[in-house]
Amino acid sequence: MSFTLAIVGRPNVGKSTLFNRLVGRRLALVDDQPGVTRDLREGAGRIGAMKFTVIDTAGLEMAKDESLQGRMRALTERAVAMADVCLFLVDARAGVTPADEYFAEILRKANARVILAANKAEGRAGEAGVYDAYALGLGEPIALSAEHGEGLGDLHRALEPFALEFADRAVEPETEIILDDEEDFDPDAQVSRDPKKPIQIAVVGRPNAGKSTLINKIIGEDRLLTGPEAGITRDSISVNTDWNGQAFRIFDTAGMRKKAKVQEKLEKLSVADGLRAVKFAEVVVVLLDVQVPFEQQDLRIADLAEREGRAVVIAVNKWDLEDEKQEKLRSLREQFERLLPQLRGAPMVYVSAMTGKGLDKLQEAILSAHDVWNRRVPTSQLNRWLADQVAAHPPPAPSGRRIRMRYMTQAKTRPPTFVVFTSIPDEVPKSYNRFLVNGLRRDFDMPGTPIRLFLRGGK
Ligand code: GDP
Ligand code: GDP
Repeated sequence: MSFTLAIVGRPNVGKSTLFNRLVGRRLALVDDQPGVTRDLREGAGRIGAMKFTVIDTAGLEMAKDESLQGRMRALTERAVAMADVCLFLVDARAGVTPADEYFAEILRKANARVILAANKAEGRAGEAGVYDAYALGLGEPIALSAEHGEGLGDLHRALEPFALEFADRAVEPETEIILDDEEDFDPDAQVSRDPKKPIQIAVVGRPNAGKSTLINKIIGEDRLLTGPEAGITRDSISVNTDWNGQAFRIFDTAGMRKKAKVQEKLEKLSVADGLRAVKFAEVVVVLLDVQVPFEQQDLRIADLAEREGRAVVIAVNKWDLEDEKQEKLRSLREQFERLLPQLRGAPMVYVSAMTGKGLDKLQEAILSAHDVWNRRVPTSQLNRWLADQVAAHPPPAPSGRRIRMRYMTQAKTRPPTFVVFTSIPDEVPKSYNRFLVNGLRRDFDMPGTPIRLFLRGGK
């Protein structure tokens, strides 16, 4: 089984119907298995030859004990935690409702990787709602009809990057859940990296930034790319390569496709392509053209990479064309800090894909970003640190009630994700959350990587 897909969304959008369609006849077996909870159904899903685990969150309407909304939230969060990707269903006939927005917010907060689909899209009545769903800000919606089995091809395509990413699931899960806490934190410690295990990177950027030139330089110019490799889809083109002794899997979109002479409307596809590339990658290299740096499109994809929790490296290409290098360095730094504050501290390197200059530095930056992304901090140190922070700057208490920060732990890596248990999580201001994140970044040497910090009530 490769990846796990959770179907989420408000009641009545068609989650169960879709679950049944994906799981088919095997459902009966699955449902009767002991140990399978009543509210979260899990089954063996498949579309064509693609197999995956599918989780359905539809059972919860039956729960009568607590408030429905609270239960749904808890259930969705649990499903999100179990899944590699969430299929967020909305009803194309009903349009986007406040309940949909509520769920979108849960997914955003949980930092989930989301595929958006508008169900019940068969026929005319569904069309408008599909476009409506764009407003959720979760990317391009897929038009589905669970009941009629329509749109499964598009769903298949959207899931392909996950099938690819988790093909070797048995070897190592994407998210490392922290269990042991024995070792001491040492930011300078040599990270034990397996040079044979490919580091997955995506090279993204606007057309003509030099993506294909860069990738060809990295993989060696003699290995000209002629087309999609076997087993790799039309949209997802990746190549494995050894780069100075370290294995990499490089994922590119429009650039390579162009070389592969596949005729498509490149401009139109580039946003969705970028999204796929970002979802696939551990480290995203945002390639800028020094002559037109930080264009709108560059900013969007860099922001997307951050929101998806990817490590980011900014590479400024065509450095060979620049005469006033010192002057340019200054202005690029300034623009970077102003336009992408969410990526503060991310490495920025200067390369010429054409001449190969700066590629060693680029590799160093990628490896170091990857290390930081995988970093774990022992709980004991986190709690000492938290006590110091709180002593120096206690959280302000808007309602006058004292906010206690009880305990802190790193829940996972990739990206580093922390949970702070506190007496009144809802009253901790966003600015305090930022204060803690910035402190973590500084004190545990995690520049540039997205850091997630969640506040939880209780102990
Ligand atoms: P859930 O609460 O999200 O699990 O939704 P259900 O799967 O129970 O579906 C709710 C209702 O929508 C049922 O009456 C389904 O028959 C109907 N439904 C599900 N999928 C479709 C679809 O693709 N098209 C139409 N027209 N109705 C659908
Ligand atoms: P892509 O669309 O991002 O894949 O960009 P390409 O790799 O096709 O490059 C676009 C153009 O920029 C081509 O004409 C390349 O020769 C040129 N180019 C790429 N990298 C460099 C570089 O480092 N220096 C210079 N001077 N030109 C470059």
